[in-house]
Amino acid sequence: MASLRTQVRAADIAGRHFDTVVIGSGFGSGFFLHEALRHARTGRVLVLEWGDIRSHADQWADGRQTHIAPESTYANESPRPWNFTIGFGGGTNCWFAQTPRFHPTDFRLRSLYGAGRDWPFDYAELEPFYCEAEDIMAISGDDAMGRVLPRSKPFPQPPHIPSTPDARLKRARPEQHFVMPTARARQATDTRGPCCANLRCSLCPVDAKFTANNGLMDVFQHPSVSVCPGAEVLSLETQGGVVRSVVFRSGGQEYSVNGDLFVLGANAIHSPAILLRSGIDRGPVGKGLHEAYGIEVEVLLDGVDNFDGSTITTGLDYGAYDGAFRSTSGAALLYFENRWKFGFRPEPGKWRQTLPIVIVVEDLPRDSDAVVLAADGRARVVGKEPGRYALDGADRAFEQLPEILSALPVERIERRLVRPTESHLQGSLRMGTDPADAVVDAGQVHHALRNLVVVGSSVFPTCSASNPSLTVGAMSIRAARSLLA
Ligand SMILES: Cc1cc2nc3c(=O)[nH]c(=O)nc-3n(C[C@H](O)[C@H](O)[C@H](O)COP(=O)(O)OP(=O)(O)OC[C@H]3O[C@@H](n4cnc5c(N)ncnc54)[C@H](O)[C@@H]3O)c2cc1C
Ligand code: SF4
Repeated sequence: MASLRTQVRAADIAGRHFDTVVIGSGFGSGFFLHEALRHARTGRVLVLEWGDIRSHADQWADGRQTHIAPESTYANESPRPWNFTIGFGGGTNCWFAQTPRFHPTDFRLRSLYGAGRDWPFDYAELEPFYCEAEDIMAISGDDAMGRVLPRSKPFPQPPHIPSTPDARLKRARPEQHFVMPTARARQATDTRGPCCANLRCSLCPVDAKFTANNGLMDVFQHPSVSVCPGAEVLSLETQGGVVRSVVFRSGGQEYSVNGDLFVLGANAIHSPAILLRSGIDRGPVGKGLHEAYGIEVEVLLDGVDNFDGSTITTGLDYGAYDGAFRSTSGAALLYFENRWKFGFRPEPGKWRQTLPIVIVVEDLPRDSDAVVLAADGRARVVGKEPGRYALDGADRAFEQLPEILSALPVERIERRLVRPTESHLQGSLRMGTDPADAVVDAGQVHHALRNLVVVGSSVFPTCSASNPSLTVGAMSIRAARSLLA
């Protein structure tokens, strides 16, 4: 098993005091620390991580990012298999590295369409932080995307090579169809190889996608940082209106450490569970757990071959994303796949004339979909099937496909399957200006406990149809700077 030069054992830190205690080492925590370490006030930092530290080589050796199965860590009474990684680096290990920004309208759903909630800041406020997060991950992308998602800087890396269907659609729909932005390197970096489209990104054989192991080691091996793996945080202890200490379990024993600033980044199921176990239940703690809804479609083409792009997903189309329909049905983002999800076609000469599309639709968070505690104190997820808003959005986007694909010779379009999960748990500790309706404020600081910051996708007030992690990274940089600069 890999180790860090900053690694510490639970017994060595028990009872000690740190200026900043960070819970979890995934996207939220990693990007927060990336910024926080630039500010003297951050001081000595302790990172408590439930899982092990496993290098890319360790993971490759047994084909697993972690030995802790997500479903073993909570009781699931909802219809979805919530998917995440418990381990050093969290979701940076298992993610597929798709990195679209959120759409400007995603932040203003209530004011624009009377649905869901507004975020306490807008796209323009987050834009410079998107650029910083993109630089950290060396995102490859198509600068033409600025037409839909305005940008103040070019992408750090050039775009991937689109497949032939994507190149045709990009020419025909220059305002809506773009090459996929991604943290799968187009060009080699100092620590990553170039993506070569071998299409198994959950554990990339050539280490092309951004992970904590290849992109955040300066942070986790910084001289001010200590990292304690195998430390499952159980609860926070409060006194006099602030958090004083954190209790964790390691090797079957309980320990505690004290601190001044606490950063909670334990994912959208385990962060609320930690607060609930601590009796910190003011506001909608645990409520509104959600993710987008996805369906898969196969487009049978007539005379155009697919699968000649340079990465696993090569195109994004915004033709079904925004409009007045969002008062009653969700935005849909169309992902154009450069992988043969439904096999090759059997007809001679037509083997590659198939185009898989994933339609991802925003859903409206409901407070009845929630993280609560089981009798033994473990996290327990309750909830129902995706809502009408998402289902109607998927139907609408499917009906729009003939028009969106009109520049391609389409033989027929088949609706293939519903995806069991998008692997994007979000929204159980939402941010907002009203303490009665939100757990943290616009700076991600707890409304009542002012030395507690929550990072990660748990703070999302609404869903978006876009993948969450770039937005998590940008928001974490913003939160750290507003608190510590
Ligand atoms: C298969 C898969 C593919 C994905 N692909 C994409 C993609 O292409 N694009 C995208 O944007 N997103 C993708 N995601 C989603 C992405 O992983 C999450 O959005 C992101 O990781 C959320 O960041 P976070 O900081 O909230 O949580 P995480 O990154 O999960 O970090 C949480 C951390 O806390 C630790 N932890 C949890 N509980 C405790 C505890 N009690 N004590 C101590 N530590 C704890 C965990 O081990 C982990 O290190 C994918 C996810 C999966 C599972
Ligand atoms: S497409 Fe292949 S090379 Fe590229 S990130 Fe995924 S697994 Fe790695």
